[in-house]
Amino acid sequence: MRELEQFPRVKLGVLPTPIHRLEGISEMLGTNVYVKRDDLTGLGLGGNKVRKLEFLLADAREKGAEVVFTTGGAQSNHAMLTAAAANKLGMKAILILKKRGVTERKGNVLLEHLLGTDVRFMDTDDYQDIYDEMDRVGQELGVPYYKIPVGGSNSLGSLGYVSCVREIRDQGIRFDHILSAEGSGGTTAGLALGAKLYLPDTKVYGMMVDTEDFATITADLMKGACELLETDIEVTREDYTLRNMAGPGYAIPSEEGNAAVQIMAEKEGLFLDPVYTGKAFAGLIALAREGAFKKDDNVLFIHTGGAGGLFAIDM
Ligand SMILES: *Cc1c(COP(=O)(O)O)cnc(C)c1O
Repeated sequence: MRELEQFPRVKLGVLPTPIHRLEGISEMLGTNVYVKRDDLTGLGLGGNKVRKLEFLLADAREKGAEVVFTTGGAQSNHAMLTAAAANKLGMKAILILKKRGVTERKGNVLLEHLLGTDVRFMDTDDYQDIYDEMDRVGQELGVPYYKIPVGGSNSLGSLGYVSCVREIRDQGIRFDHILSAEGSGGTTAGLALGAKLYLPDTKVYGMMVDTEDFATITADLMKGACELLETDIEVTREDYTLRNMAGPGYAIPSEEGNAAVQIMAEKEGLFLDPVYTGKAFAGLIALAREGAFKKDDNVLFIHTGGAGGLFAIDM
């Protein structure tokens, strides 16, 4: 197997991120709930994309890219963090975002304005149109460019969360369950593969906040990451448990998700967001109420960030 250290990586994050127990939530749910503060990864407003970008932008740099393209919804946290990372590394980011969502200068779009980023909106529902547009713009610019897929979710990006599981193992507490939001798949895939490698007794859950075929997407990303790592361990659908928490749809707040945002703020003084972490935490609450966790279990919620969107979306 190749070691994670053998992959080029740029330092963007302030790692390891803290883990701490959520006392009020643990009491409420009758189990031991901890949070890993990946909302404090140290770039921009923090968030899970920083870990993926450490691998992706190192690859971009190695390939001589001057321009980095990425995409997402209008309020994509990933796109904003890619722009922030590009600034730090002296590269130029061009964001071609779906017009769907809040395009005014609010939330992440405001932050991109502060970052001085070239942001364009494209009226399409198909990311392929956007990837084609990246090639068109890139060729017109005539400089080496690099395309990062939506959410930074390819196999290379997923290594960020393989690495995160090793970090969790090294932080000392044994977790029976690790949960996070799943929006494009790379985080869950990395966590599931990381658990297989470093914490084989830990169960990984992806709380789906969109309605794609994540069973397949997650497995494919894991397989791709296994190839990069040159390991022949077998990936199966038992490596992760998925739960549909999308509610009325991607980036449309749900009642349960909003209630979870409120509970976290009231009990712990922490902020979740209505698009990802609120819905994911609502999934954790639902699982606890269904009896999925024992009293002595240790449950780790990955706070994947999302603060930027909090100020753009009406809850
Ligand atoms: C992108 C994102 C996620 C989902 O991670 P994926 O790797 O895309 O599945 C979760 N939370 C926040 C705040 C995000 O921005």
